[in-house]
Amino acid sequence: MTEAVTVSEGAPAAAEFSAAVAAIRELAPTGRVLLICHVNPDGDALGSMLGFGLGLRRLGVPRLQATFPGTFEVPDPFAALPGLDLLVSEEQAEPEPDLVIVFDVAAVSRLGALADRLPRARATVALDHHASNTGFAGVNLVDAGAAATSVVAEELLRRLDVPLDAEIAECLYVALATDTGSFRFDMTTPRVHEMAARLIATGLRPGEISRRVFDSRPFGAMKLSADVLSRAQLDPTAADGHGMVWTYATLEDLERHGQRPYVLDALIDPVRCVAEVDVSVVVKQLAEREWAVSLRSKGAVDVSAVAVALGGGGHRLAAGFTGYGTPGDVVTAVRDELGKHLIP
Ligand code: 5GP
Ligand code: MN
Repeated sequence: MTEAVTVSEGAPAAAEFSAAVAAIRELAPTGRVLLICHVNPDGDALGSMLGFGLGLRRLGVPRLQATFPGTFEVPDPFAALPGLDLLVSEEQAEPEPDLVIVFDVAAVSRLGALADRLPRARATVALDHHASNTGFAGVNLVDAGAAATSVVAEELLRRLDVPLDAEIAECLYVALATDTGSFRFDMTTPRVHEMAARLIATGLRPGEISRRVFDSRPFGAMKLSADVLSRAQLDPTAADGHGMVWTYATLEDLERHGQRPYVLDALIDPVRCVAEVDVSVVVKQLAEREWAVSLRSKGAVDVSAVAVALGGGGHRLAAGFTGYGTPGDVVTAVRDELGKHLIP
């Protein structure tokens, strides 16, 4: 099913930020706050949520939880983030929160079973940077020009007069570094480097953080990666000749190498480097006929539009959706959409 899309342009208006500040400042002393990020959380989802959560803790918000839907597993690269003690599983998450704040979530479908907290809460605020954001919250701080949701989180913390400390900064830095591909992607603006400078100035050690987040993986994950990359296929005529490369990973692959599903999220990186093509696709098995699909483009195809057409979302050059059938079925569905969403 395709969800409604309201393309947001530019930074959120000051009125939106004021409404978010008011929702937080007007909390009763006993107010229950639930922070939620998207299913299968990545560095930006966890980093922006935990960094902001630590900021709320500094403000003295007492009844504070952070959570995400689905299996309660924090990927190893993020297992040392400050603020992890705020995390509770979906089952333990407050059923009747007063205020819900969601992070890096473009559509309600990304909240899984936790979506029911939105209508139950007195106030809801969304911090996000996806152009495909559907505007589902009461207050929508959506900046499609921001490199990461943590950019929006830092701005809201500033408006709440919460100073950056090393713990908050580490969370926001991990979010910024992961979503910009270590400050390499198109969204890496002067503003991004200025924010990184503010974060590093709190005493962070970028080298140590990068080793933990990017340059560390189990031996089995390396072997699994070799298997998955070896079955990649090149399709030079896809996307009106811009070309596509694709591969897939199964639950059996994970089992054979004794790995957890999050290790598959790194596979798109070597695949998207293939020089001959514009589009790269990694199809990752979730259940027998269900697959999480990662799409990347180098600029010829709006893969966010492709993902939206197939029930997902994301950014112009990095997007995803859930596909059904065999990997071949899923890739055929992608291939059929590519030519319709060329960037002029
Ligand atoms: P990734 O391939 O790294 O999982 O995701 C790339 C981008 O696409 C991220 O911005 C992510 O939020 C978005 N995305 C991935 N899968 C889905 C999905 O199933 N639905 C939506 N709406 N967005 C997705
Ligand atoms: Mn993000």
